[in-house]
Amino acid sequence: MARKKKSPVIEKNNFKIPYFSILGVLFIVILFTALWFPLNLERTLYVPLTPQVETTVNDNAHSSVVGDGIVEIVNGKSATVTESSDVPEDEIVKDELDDIVDDKDNTVQYTIVRGDTLHDILIRYNVNRNDIYQLTTKFKQLANLRIGQQISWTTDDNHNLLTFSWAISSNNIRIYEKSGDNFVESSETIEVVPQDIVIKGDIKTSFVADARKSGLTSNEIGIITRALQWRLDFRRLQVGDKFSVILTREMHGKSLSNSQLLGVRIKNGTKDYYAILADDGKYYDINGSSLSQSFFRYPLAKQARVSSGFNPRRLHPVTGVVTPHNGVDFAVSRGTPVLSVGNGEVVIAKYSGSAGNYIAIRHGRQYMTTYMHLDKILVKPGQQIKQGDKIGLSGNTGRSTGPHLHFELHINNKPVNPLTASLPISEGLTGKSKKAFLSKVKSISSQLNF
Ligand SMILES: [Zn+2]
Repeated sequence: MARKKKSPVIEKNNFKIPYFSILGVLFIVILFTALWFPLNLERTLYVPLTPQVETTVNDNAHSSVVGDGIVEIVNGKSATVTESSDVPEDEIVKDELDDIVDDKDNTVQYTIVRGDTLHDILIRYNVNRNDIYQLTTKFKQLANLRIGQQISWTTDDNHNLLTFSWAISSNNIRIYEKSGDNFVESSETIEVVPQDIVIKGDIKTSFVADARKSGLTSNEIGIITRALQWRLDFRRLQVGDKFSVILTREMHGKSLSNSQLLGVRIKNGTKDYYAILADDGKYYDINGSSLSQSFFRYPLAKQARVSSGFNPRRLHPVTGVVTPHNGVDFAVSRGTPVLSVGNGEVVIAKYSGSAGNYIAIRHGRQYMTTYMHLDKILVKPGQQIKQGDKIGLSGNTGRSTGPHLHFELHINNKPVNPLTASLPISEGLTGKSKKAFLSKVKSISSQLNF
């Protein structure tokens, strides 16, 4: 009898123990996921610019692969790097417009627009962070930049800031020069004579050549090209097309110190393209509509975990050599649709060395995006792409050891962090500012007639 009574109790206990342990394990897993996952997503998605190298060194001689890492074995030790190379074999071919739009001599001229801070501008142009810190903490007055003011700076090839100048007004310029580890301020008062001029020309060979012939400087041609980059492909201008430009040139003695484009009109066949400067420092068409094109932040329909961030100074853990990670890696499974982040034209679509199946898209003149390690390419070179178009499927091709999408954004042919870069916003004028703009258009458009 005693045995008979005991046995159900034992059975009950046998049932209870695994039941509670499963509950316990489940609880821990849910708690862990709930706490860790969203935090981790946020933390990894907005990757800081500071160098971060994901390294695992194993003591045994066996190679191992972790995530999308690549294994290198040196002296019987193996180290895992999240991707050691994303360098396509095919370079994007540049043309004469690139030379003009790029800032080749490491000197950048910039006009302050709404929402700018000096810190953000210099970060965007990859200026050495320590120099930015030195400059902005020592000279607090640099927080007072105004919309429309011109700044310019020069860096060396390693992005170190050499000189910075701030035109408070057309004849009052502050100059900050590097001296040792610090910056020294000086100011210059110059006799500046502003001149409004109108320049007109016909296309006989190419826009760049004919604009130069008409007297426009490279800097001015660059401003025009950037202002109209989303509306007009300058390479498609043909013999017989016309351009007309209004500029304010600031003459410093006999030499040109600065110029501002007030308006431009380009006639391409039967179509007219305008860019007119508004009070906010940006260009709009004659109706006050934005000339900018907006971008998606990610080339994916859904948010994905960033497995490796943008890092221009990434050190190779084994060789110690700087091997920049010029893009962002998204951990997505093979076959995930990859979307173009903006309107543009496919420049490259092919298998290309360690990049695997590789797509490069040009957006306007200043922007380029690239997509690597794709499983499938769904577009062809020369094809016109709309924002959000499915251009490929993500994969694991080329020098990649796990499925992921490597995505790069280049501004003026320099790679920048696509997660933090400031992207153009497509926003037209409204209300009072639109009214003021339209009356300005009225007053200058007749000067743009051919
Ligand atoms: Zn990558």
